Amino acid sequence: MEIKKVFVLGAGTMGNGIAHTFAQYGFDVVLFDAFENALKNGMSTIEKNLGRQVKKGTITEEQMKETLSRITPTLNFSDGADTDFVVEAVSENKELKYKIFADLDSLLRPDVILATNTSTISITEIAAKTKRPDKVIGMHFMNPVPMMRLVEVIRGLSTTDETFEIVKALAEKLGKVPVLANDYPGFIANRILMPFINEAIWAVMEHIGTVDAIDEVAKLGFSHPMGPLALADLIGLDTTLAIMNVLHQDLGDPRFRPAPLLKKLVAAGHFGRKSGRGFYDYSGEKPVPLTF
Ligand code: NAD
Repeated sequence: MEIKKVFVLGAGTMGNGIAHTFAQYGFDVVLFDAFENALKNGMSTIEKNLGRQVKKGTITEEQMKETLSRITPTLNFSDGADTDFVVEAVSENKELKYKIFADLDSLLRPDVILATNTSTISITEIAAKTKRPDKVIGMHFMNPVPMMRLVEVIRGLSTTDETFEIVKALAEKLGKVPVLANDYPGFIANRILMPFINEAIWAVMEHIGTVDAIDEVAKLGFSHPMGPLALADLIGLDTTLAIMNVLHQDLGDPRFRPAPLLKKLVAAGHFGRKSGRGFYDYSGEKPVPLTF
């Protein structure tokens, strides 16, 4: 079966980037979100990011128009019924993903592969909510999706070689580099990255350094393109906390406990870039580091 039309669930930070990327590479996309505002914001982010690519000269005005015309935004889940491939990118919440995968299993043809962009949640457990665990797989894009080349491909216990090969080839078709990871909490990327970010948050909390100082150390000292606190704001502090919670719960090791300052910021609705405030204030032209 040729994959032509893709169902992307969730129009947030990752979902809009995933829809953008598939559409840019010629796939038709149905982009679903449960919330009207999120869907509108997602579509305007795609337009803004495509506009940036035009300015940079990486795509033409014509390609931007074509890409946008391939994306159908919808608030109606059943509009995804006639798609050939699924990437789920809704909020990092186990119960929500379990429910969505059970619903997807009823909605989609039995030959359709169901991929999840989850950062930490067990692919094997998500797959068990469907009658096609052999066709459930992790396809973990990096943020921002149109720019980052890595895609972690995670096999659940029942994922077949055939499903893996199809997803690997699909990632390559999107200009990405697929890397195989095993199904343990956080896979490769977040098992390593998240404790690093979390430790940087403990360091802010314990006044070891200011937000600026900590990010500067990572940039100048480790040659990271971005400090861990700016990265946490880009990922979303709510998503960062959800990931730390899964690592902590599923690995049962206290070294993965989320920093109380992270919990506090999320409780206050300071989610980072997407809410305008996190470790930095994004209301002006340039992000301003905050004091804690
Ligand atoms: P986000 O909060 O930016 O977006 C989540 C979207 O899901 C929102 O638009 C929300 O309206 C939508 N949603 C919530 N409930 C829904 C439902 N019942 N049906 C449909 N849509 C629903 O989150 P995100 O950062 O884009 O994360 C999405 C997934 O991608 C998560 O599993 C996360 O772990 C993973 N991920 C995130 C990053 C990152 O850097 N943010 C990177 C890789 C993977």
